[in-house]
Amino acid sequence: MKVARISPARTIEVAHIEEPEVSHDTVKVRVERCGICGTDLVARTSSNPRWAVDSVLGHEIVGTVADVGEGVSGWKAGDRVALYHGSPCGQCEMCTSGRDYLCLDHLDSALGHGVAQGGYAEHIVVGPNLLHRIPDGLSFDQAGIAEPLAIAFHGVNKSDAKAGDAICILGAGPIGAMTAAALKARGVADIAFVDPNPARRALVEKSGYRAVDLAAVRDGDVAALGERRPTAIFECTGHVEAAGLAVELIAYNGRIVLQGVPKAPVLISQYSVVQKEVEIVGSASCTQEEMEEAIGHLAAGRVRAEDIVTAVVPLEEVDAMFDALLDPAGEQLKVLIAPNMTQV
Ligand SMILES: [Zn+2]
Ligand SMILES: [Zn+2]
Repeated sequence: MKVARISPARTIEVAHIEEPEVSHDTVKVRVERCGICGTDLVARTSSNPRWAVDSVLGHEIVGTVADVGEGVSGWKAGDRVALYHGSPCGQCEMCTSGRDYLCLDHLDSALGHGVAQGGYAEHIVVGPNLLHRIPDGLSFDQAGIAEPLAIAFHGVNKSDAKAGDAICILGAGPIGAMTAAALKARGVADIAFVDPNPARRALVEKSGYRAVDLAAVRDGDVAALGERRPTAIFECTGHVEAAGLAVELIAYNGRIVLQGVPKAPVLISQYSVVQKEVEIVGSASCTQEEMEEAIGHLAAGRVRAEDIVTAVVPLEEVDAMFDALLDPAGEQLKVLIAPNMTQV
């Protein structure tokens, strides 16, 4: 089958590998869409041995069940599914304390994270515990954002944000845009973005959000964001200066949710954190329940994937699309790969 994998030159190249087949306890899924995640963009050129040459990336997968192992019940060929990104080990202290989404060994089972094959492929074989049913009315282009949307819902759940709160989102990238969509689905309306890229500001403005340049808030000035200091801020850039800025912009007693992954330790004013009694929380991954919640909001039309997905491409265009997504002035937001689409 055809896949897109990391080449020795650290590009994403199309290759043919043996098609995986089901075992007694697994399910084979024809991949209809696989989202390109920020993690994938980093993996292409990463020196981490996890991302070895020939790795097939991709963990944001939706597809059609193609074959079912004899020991699997409840699923049949033709079922439309969204995949959770990996199986918890069931043994570690996070798994045994009811927080298996933070499994300490999760990377070894996570799809497309160097060990298990990812979704940049025509087919993938997984355990049935990863499968979530997609309702009939939801297209693969819409359901294709279910996993990152669940990640956004996880951050929103960490924030405790509710209707009437003033929200600021640092970074109008895919996770920022999906965080806004998740908030809106929960009835939170007062949302302002900060992003230096005018193309991405224009994209979120088209969806009805306020968006300002970094310069407008540089000195902790919040006038451009709205009438109030934000009561919750979502850091969705991973830029080393973003958390420090969030601490200056946040209201007294506000909460900051950190979702970005900066390359180096960040500096924040502890004085501001103490004086304002700011709460800072990290948000990683998502639960299977949040996957269901994301699919439910998409199916009900409360989240419009059409506002977030800017391109659907075949495997042959993945490498160029990585470059477009990494371009600081780029116009792409969320890109889905369609591995079974023939190149036109
Ligand atoms: Zn991801
Ligand atoms: Zn575990």
